[in-house]
Amino acid sequence: MDTLAPARRSWLMSRIKAKNTKPEIKVRQLIYALGYRYRLHVKKLPGCPDIVFSGKKKVIFVNGCYWHGHLNCRYAKLPKTNIEFWSDKFIRNRERDKRNVAALEAQGWQVSIIWQCEIRAPELLIEKIKSFLSDKNY
Ligand SMILES: [Zn+2]
Repeated sequence: MDTLAPARRSWLMSRIKAKNTKPEIKVRQLIYALGYRYRLHVKKLPGCPDIVFSGKKKVIFVNGCYWHGHLNCRYAKLPKTNIEFWSDKFIRNRERDKRNVAALEAQGWQVSIIWQCEIRAPELLIEKIKSFLSDKNY
C-alpha cells in the first residue's frame, strides 16, 4: 500500500519531472554550440522528451542519476532511511523511462539518454551527442 502523503508525493513528482535542471541546461548548451537546433519538452511525445530534433526524428532525455536510478552510478546511491520505499520508487522510475523509450521507438523515434554524470566528461559527451545526431549512421 502506498502511504505517501499527497504533498510529499507531488514534491517527489516535481523533482522527477523537473524541467530546465542544471544538467539539462548544460547539455543544451553543448548541443547548441555544436550547431544543432531543437525543441524542448514536447508534451505530445511519450515521456515528454527534454530535447527534440523533429526533422531527424531523434530525442534526447537528460536524466538525473539519482531520480532516474542510474545503475552502478555513484551519484545514484539510495538514501539511508526508508530504503524500501526509495528503491521501489527508483525501480518504478526506471521502468517508466523504459516504457517511454519503447513507445517512442515504436513511433519511429531514435532515443538517446544522457546521464547527469556524463556531463563530468564533456569531451566524451560531445562525441556521444555528435554520433547520435550525425545522419551518417542511419
Ligand atoms: Zn550516473
